[in-house]
Amino acid sequence: MNIYLDNSSTTKIDEEVLKEMLPYLQENYGNPSSAYRIGRENKAIIENAREQVAKILNADTEEIYFTSGGSESDNMAIKGVVFANQDKGNHIITSKIEHPAVLDTCKELEKCGFEVTYIDVHKNGIIDLKQLEDSIREDTILISIMFANNEIGTIEPIKNICKIAREHNVIFHTDGVQAIGNIKINVKELEIDLLSLSAHKFYGPKGIGALYVREGVNFRKYLNGGHQERNKRAGTENVAGIVGLGKALTLTYNNFEDKNEYLYNLRTYLINEINNNIPDIKINGDLENRLPGNINISIKGVEADNILNELDKKGIFISTGSACTTGSIESSHVLKAIGLSDAEAHGSIRISLGKYNTKDELKYFVVELKKIIEKLRKYSVLYN
Ligand SMILES: *Cc1c(COP(=O)(O)O)cnc(C)c1O
Repeated sequence: MNIYLDNSSTTKIDEEVLKEMLPYLQENYGNPSSAYRIGRENKAIIENAREQVAKILNADTEEIYFTSGGSESDNMAIKGVVFANQDKGNHIITSKIEHPAVLDTCKELEKCGFEVTYIDVHKNGIIDLKQLEDSIREDTILISIMFANNEIGTIEPIKNICKIAREHNVIFHTDGVQAIGNIKINVKELEIDLLSLSAHKFYGPKGIGALYVREGVNFRKYLNGGHQERNKRAGTENVAGIVGLGKALTLTYNNFEDKNEYLYNLRTYLINEINNNIPDIKINGDLENRLPGNINISIKGVEADNILNELDKKGIFISTGSACTTGSIESSHVLKAIGLSDAEAHGSIRISLGKYNTKDELKYFVVELKKIIEKLRKYSVLYN
C-alpha cells in the first residue's frame, strides 16, 4: 500500500473528473475549430468549461484563457504583459520565493534587457510589503507575487499587494496554482489583473491550466500559430483536459469548507504526533497564514534526501523542498529566503496532505518517520 503525502506536487485525479473527460478522448474527437457538428459541439463544450472557471473566480468568460498548465500560464502572463508594455518601462518586481516558472522567466527577461527586483520575505515567509512599495518606480510595468507558496504553504497578503499595485498603477499577476482549491478567490473584488492556475493541483488532469487576464490589461499574444483562445494562445485545444479542469474546479469548490476543515484537522493531528514523537524539529513558515494541507519541517542532524529514500522504501512519498529542485544539490531558494542555514535547509521535508489522506495513514507515517530519524541520527556527526 502506498501513502501519498506529496499533494502540492500533484494530486490523484478524481474519478468523477476522469469520467467526464473520457468521451472527449474517445468518441467526441472533433477539432473545436472545425465548422461541422462534432467540431462545433466541442467548441461549445470548451465554452461551457470556460464559464465554470469564470464563475468560480468571479471573472467574465472572455477573461479566461486555457493553457498547458501552471508553468505556461506564468510564462504567458509575465511575457505577455512585459512585451506589450515595453514602451512604458522595463522594470519588473517579483519575490525571492516564487516558483521557478516565475523566477526563471524573470531571470530570462533580465537577459532581454528587463530589470527585475526580487523582494525579500520575513522569517515566516510573508512578503516585505514596505520593500515592495519602496521598489516601485516610474518604469515598473509588472508586479508578480505568488498567492501561496508551494514549499512552505505561506499565504501572501494578496489584498494588500493588489492595493499597492493599484495605487501605483502597476499591472499585478499572481501565481495562484497552490491557492486554487484552498482559498476562495474573487478576482474582481481583489482587483487582480492576471492569475495562473493548474488542474493537476486540485484533482484534475496534468497538462492543462488557465490564465485569467482582466479585460483591459495590455497583454500580447504568447504562442504564435492558429487563432485559438481569441487569438491569444495558438494550438488545438486540449478538449478533454479543459473539460477535466472545469469539472475539477467545480468539485473542489462544491465542498470547499468541509475539505478545508478535514485537511486542517489532519494537519493538526500530524503536527501533534510529530511533536510528541520526534525531538529537535522546527516547523517552517507561518502557522496562521498557511495552506491547510502543508507542513514543512527542519529535522536536526539528518539529510532530507535520506529520509525521502527510506520512506520511499516503505511506500511513503514525501518531498524535500520542492519537486522542481529535487536532484539538485542547491538548497531550496525558499528556505534560504526565510533565513535557514544550508544544514537546516538540507534537513527539511515537506508533507502536503490531500483529500484522500486519512488519520491512519499519518499514524503509520509518524511511526516510520520516527524510526528512520532515530536510525539516521545515530550515525550523524551533525547530531551527536
Ligand atoms: C505546480 C506549480 C506550478 C507549475 O504548474 P504546472 O502545471 O506543473 O506547470 C507553478 N507554480 C506553483 C506555485 C506550483 O505549485
